[in-house]
Formats: sequence, C-alpha cells, structure tokens
Amino acid sequence: MEESLNFVEEIVEEDIRNPVYREGIATRFPPEPNGYLHLGHAKSICLNFGLASKYNGKVNLRFDDTNPERENSSYIEAIKEDIRWLGYEWHNEYYASDYFEALYGFAVELIKRGIAYVDDSTSEEIAEQKGTPQIPGTTNQYRERSVDENLQLLEAMKLGQFRDGEKVLRAKIDMAASNMHMRDPIMYRVKHTPHHRTGSTWCIYPMYDFAHGQSDAIEHITHSTCTLEFVAHRPLYNWFIQQLGLFPSKQIEFARLNLAYTIMSKRKLQQLVDNGLVDGWDDPRLPTIAGLRRRGYTPNAIRKFCDRIGVAKRDAITDFGLLEFCVREDLNQSAQRRIAVLKPLKVIITNYDEEKTEYMSMENLPGDEANGSRKVPFGKELWIEQDDFMEHAAKNYFRLTLGGAVRLKGAYIISCEHIMKDEHGNIIELQCRYFPESKSGNDRSNIKVKSTIHWLSVPSAIPAEVRLYDRLFSVEDPGKTENDFLSHFNKHSIQVLQNAYVEADLAERDNAGVHFQFVRLGYFIKDTHSDVDHLVFNRTVDLKERWKKA
Ligand code: ATP
Ligand code: MG
Repeated sequence: MEESLNFVEEIVEEDIRNPVYREGIATRFPPEPNGYLHLGHAKSICLNFGLASKYNGKVNLRFDDTNPERENSSYIEAIKEDIRWLGYEWHNEYYASDYFEALYGFAVELIKRGIAYVDDSTSEEIAEQKGTPQIPGTTNQYRERSVDENLQLLEAMKLGQFRDGEKVLRAKIDMAASNMHMRDPIMYRVKHTPHHRTGSTWCIYPMYDFAHGQSDAIEHITHSTCTLEFVAHRPLYNWFIQQLGLFPSKQIEFARLNLAYTIMSKRKLQQLVDNGLVDGWDDPRLPTIAGLRRRGYTPNAIRKFCDRIGVAKRDAITDFGLLEFCVREDLNQSAQRRIAVLKPLKVIITNYDEEKTEYMSMENLPGDEANGSRKVPFGKELWIEQDDFMEHAAKNYFRLTLGGAVRLKGAYIISCEHIMKDEHGNIIELQCRYFPESKSGNDRSNIKVKSTIHWLSVPSAIPAEVRLYDRLFSVEDPGKTENDFLSHFNKHSIQVLQNAYVEADLAERDNAGVHFQFVRLGYFIKDTHSDVDHLVFNRTVDLKERWKKA
C-alpha cells in the first residue's frame, strides 16, 4: 500500500524531483529559549526531524534568541534535553545571535541600496502611520533620508548613542501594501539589554522578520516550517531573501497543535509557573515535555500522537483523549503489573491462621512469559480499596457488600460478615471469611462471584503517596480568553492520596523511570522527587477513557 504524504512532504518531494535544491534538503527546529518545550513543539520537532530523516537531509537546532529580556541559558539546556529524550539528534546547533554581525551587514546593504531607513517616530506614531487593512498607511519625512545619513544613524544606534525606542531601522517597501507586514516593517530596534550569549556587545536587536528568514538562508535551510500565524509574513520573508540575493529558503505554514483543556503557549505556561499554580515547568499536569515525562508519558507515545494528529493546514482543537490513547497503547504492551491500594480499607480474614503467609504467584505481564512472575504475600490482614466495598449494594454494584462475596485477585473468594465502624459511623474494618477451596487456579468451591478486586497484605504493603491528575483547565479552550485564562484553572487538577499502599518492590531505587500498571487503577511512574522514606507515584493515565467532553 502506498503511504499517503502530508502536504509538507508533497512540497518537499516536488522540490526534490524538480530539483529545486541540489544540495539535498535541510530543515531546522527554531525554539526561542524563553521557556520549556510543550507538545506543540513536539509536533514541530517530529515534522522537522521526520522530514530530514525521511529525505536523507539535515536538521539544525537553532535557538531563536533575538529577545534578550525573556531568554536565558537554563532554557537552552532544558530544550536540548527534551529533544534528545524525544529520540532526536540534530546535525548542527546554531544560535540566531551568531548571525548578529551578518544581519547587521545585511541591514547596511539594504540601506546602501536605498531600501531601508532610520525612523525617529515613536511607536505610537509608527502605529498611526501604518493605516488599517482598509486605509493605506502614510509616509513620513524620515523615509526620505539620504543613504549616508541612514548609514551614520544605524552606526550610531549600534554604538549606543540612542535610548530604547528612540530610533528604529525600517525596510522601505510600500506603505500602501494590502499586506500590513509589507508597510515598511521594522528591522531593528534599540534595546539596552544584555544578551545571554553576546553580553553587552549589542544594543540593537533584529526583529523576528528580519532575523528568521536570513538565518534560514545562512544555514541553507530548504524548507522552513512554521505555524499558520506566519502566512501573512511570508511575502516579507521572501522579500528580504530576494533583495539580499540569499539562498532561497522556503517558508511553509502548518496548523499549530491545540489540545483541549490545556494551553500551548510558553508565555501562559510561564504565568502558571510564576503564580505558583503548578509545581514548576515539569509539573505533571502541564503539556510540557518535561511535565509529560514526569507524569510517565513515553517518547514513543508522544511521537505516535504527533503522527496520528498529522500535519494539516487548518487549525483545530485536538481531543486530550487521543494523547491518552497513545500512551495507553504504548504502556499496555510494556508496563509490568503491580498492585497498589489507593484508599485502603482493612480486611481481617477471621478464619485464616494468623501465623500463616501464602505467596500468590502473579504474572508481571499477563500473556508474556519473558517478563516472569512474582510472589505476592497473602495473610490474615489485608488492605482493599474503600471503593470496592459498599455496605448495602447499590444497583449494578457487584463488588464486596455486607453478606456478599467477591474474589481477591489471584487468591481466594471472601465474604463479608461483619463491619467495624468508628464513633462517627465510618467503616474502619471488615471481618470476612475466606473459602480455602476457592484458591485461584484450583477453585473447587462452586461459589459464583461477579467481581474480582485487588488487595495487599498489611505486613508486606509499603506506604506511598499517590497523585492523580485531572484536566488543567475547566474549559475546553482556555487560551481563547487572553486575560482571564487563569480564572479557568482547575483547582481539582491534582488529587493527592497520602495513605496509599504499594507492593514492596516498588520502593526499590532502580525503579526510577520505570512504568507500571497498577492493577485496575491505571499506569503509574515514580515521581522524580520520590525517595525511599517518602514514596510518591504519579498516575500517567487511567486504564479507560474518562475524558468525555464536559
Ligand atoms: P509559544 O507561543 O509557546 O512561545 P512559539 O511559537 O513562540 O510558541 P517558539 O519557541 O518560537 O515558540 O517555536 C519553535 C517552533 O515550534 C516554531 O517553529 C513554532 O512554529 C513551533 N511551534 C510552537 N508552538 C506550536 C504548536 N502549538 N504547534 C505546532 N508547532 C508549534
Ligand atoms: Mg515565539
């Protein structure tokens, strides 16, 4: 069967056939180091690294570091770690700031050709002169400055002789252009802010539109992908490249990833972090790569997700359920099974010998002998889930009830005969009887039960904290509202269960980063801040879809 191509691959294949680019293809992933990577970036990474590997090309990692106030080098390290974790390696590591000198040279060249000028207008004046999509912009007297004057002024800007905002360098294109981006766009602004790489060498910094395309061209990037907001920037991208006679990089826009009930903007994620609503950039509730890793997502699941959502030209909101489906599918085949009891209720088996311990054999991965099995201790005192007991059975409740019976997974059938309550009427202990002839695998009891529940023996169980997560926001598209998105933050997005119990071997140190399925409860991973004295597990995902649209 012929594999269908996405529209970017179609463009690339056509360019290879024609051949437009004789050196082979080259892509780049250009993060701004002003925050951590999120799933939207993963989509872009999968696309760019995927194209390079499919067409035998190169992919550069380029830090788009032209806004010194918001950027710093700790983000650079985090970004590199995340890309590698996703399973990708770049051919070259570059920085837009490496091109500051070259970009300055391009600016001088455009001035000499009479198509760039220094403008003294304030930003308000510039905005006013720009017009509207219906009304053409107006020109000002600075537009007619001589080449020599412009050269001197640009040099003076570079030398720090002007304050922030006092002067800008603009391209002289067309103040009546129907595309607003072509109405004499700003190329450089004065900004007396030290840069994390160039220090205080520069006090003028290039704008995105003047830096990005030229950086692509310098690196001989053939296909430069970006999100749809940049469609209107494309004529300008091409204009600079053509005027300067540079390598003809091609900008291609695709739909950004939006995920329901979360946000995909670094700036907004930063606000959650800064306001202390989440536990840092790697909070397991965040759609950051670091957060998803801590939550227990796998690189494979994220790559599959990116593959499934595909690359299209229309914006849409992707259902969170698809991401969960991908991680479930991945973990189901690899995560060993263990038992945990999240909200424990004590069971005493009245007719079981106090001195006795039996070891119940359980497969680590059912149906996969290579993963072996383990012995889970069973005794007189057990923990079961509070949810697995109901004093008086509700309709369709088939688990344990007073007078009813249930199977303990991999062990015996028990029936509940007596309930102990505290002075407030809370159930604190169940007294049950077990049926010795009902042992799993050798059941001669003829007792019919409708349900199987999990359990742990009290002396063998290890205390742990378990964290369950829910959607980050209570509305589907929190990013839609610019200012009050924080008011939709879901305060119940984390549930911390302090009194859970887990099987003893989960306490071992070498389980860090290992994924488990806790029987009947979902997939879990030890939290990065977990330690032997205080075990913490994060739920990656439930076993079943529970994200039905609100
Ligand atoms: P943010 O708004 O989160 O800061 P950004 O686009 O400003 O995102 P950059 O670091 O500039 O972030 O982006 C690096 C690359 O990732 C760009 O090529 C950008 O198009 C791409 N990208 C960012 N967000 C998404 C998204 N939601 N879906 C797809 N690609 C994205
Ligand atoms: Mg950006």
